[in-house]
Amino acid sequence: MIAFTAAALFTPLERIEQPLLLVEDGSILEVTSRAHREIPANGRVANFPGDTLVPGFIDMHIHGGAGHDVMETNDGALPAMERFLACRGVSSYFPTTVTAPVDMILSSLDRLGHAVETAENSSQAAELRANPLGIHLEGPFISHRRRGVHPAENLLNPTPEMFERFWEASQGQIRVMTIAPELPGAAEVITEAAKRGVCVSLGHSDATLAVARDAVDAGARHSTHTFNAMRPLDHRDPGIIAEVLTDARVSADIIADGIHLDPTMVKLFLKAKGAEQAVLITDATSATGMPDGSYPLGSSNMLVKAGRCMADGRLAGSVLTMDAAVRNVMKFAEWELQQAVRLATLNPARVTRLDTRGTLTPGARADIVVLSPSGEVKNTIIGGAGL
Ligand SMILES: [Zn+2]
Repeated sequence: MIAFTAAALFTPLERIEQPLLLVEDGSILEVTSRAHREIPANGRVANFPGDTLVPGFIDMHIHGGAGHDVMETNDGALPAMERFLACRGVSSYFPTTVTAPVDMILSSLDRLGHAVETAENSSQAAELRANPLGIHLEGPFISHRRRGVHPAENLLNPTPEMFERFWEASQGQIRVMTIAPELPGAAEVITEAAKRGVCVSLGHSDATLAVARDAVDAGARHSTHTFNAMRPLDHRDPGIIAEVLTDARVSADIIADGIHLDPTMVKLFLKAKGAEQAVLITDATSATGMPDGSYPLGSSNMLVKAGRCMADGRLAGSVLTMDAAVRNVMKFAEWELQQAVRLATLNPARVTRLDTRGTLTPGARADIVVLSPSGEVKNTIIGGAGL
């Protein structure tokens, strides 16, 4: 048994001062305060005076990091990226594909599906690495008009047959799918994906308000990098963004790097979706954690200079890390650390239907981040390991 003590703990719904958190066999046994219970004599003690314990971060939209892209065929790519993520407090992530030739998407889904399965079945990795928990399929079912840097020649209209091919290639490990609801065939694919438990997320879309609302009625329940690659909000043509911001059935994510969205838009977004339905993602690319230069993104390349990833003169993902996103929310919207942490832990866990992640409560997996009062990562524990 390991007994963790610190200055504070965010479950994240509750705040506990002078907490005592007990971990056994990779899971959380008990969460209480030292005022209520003595430190057990039979365990190891991990003391973090002055710091705060929070759940491990969950990134549901990430393309790469540490020089590697999740669609790379090289066996060392995911482990290298997963070690980097662990250093930044991320314990779970959803490797995210980009639009590419169908064969390349299929072979990526096959590889990533296996990686998810392997992570599920190995109780304890030899090294500290973030775990892939499912795949996010971003493209090819997206709008030409709002494709961002997804290659135009590889975009497809959704069909149940193509969705089935992707599903099978992934061995049923697609957990999130970004789709433009205005495309012909989208409604049928949204219904089918939602039936299989996939979080259908509206994005890369030029949808009107009515089309976006119909998609939510059909089973879509999330929004991908809200504002980016979407029909802009207009007071007489409110469009997809107005639907996402006003419908209580829809959760939504943003890239809070200060580049993809003006800081005031982050504040506006958080007022609309609140602490319950806002989610932070990084949309990070292989360039994250690396010096300026040229890096892969799916089947293409991009150039990174001073924190901006560009391809064809457009923004191409980010070099954001989740810990920085949490700190940016505190800075941009004057939110407390506890609330900001929720957007990177409990909320993405709920959106992806993970009961035992994103929370420091009994029965949950012992994925813990030790944060300084200003939100710097001091330590990451994944499945009880990492001290
Ligand atoms: Zn995107």
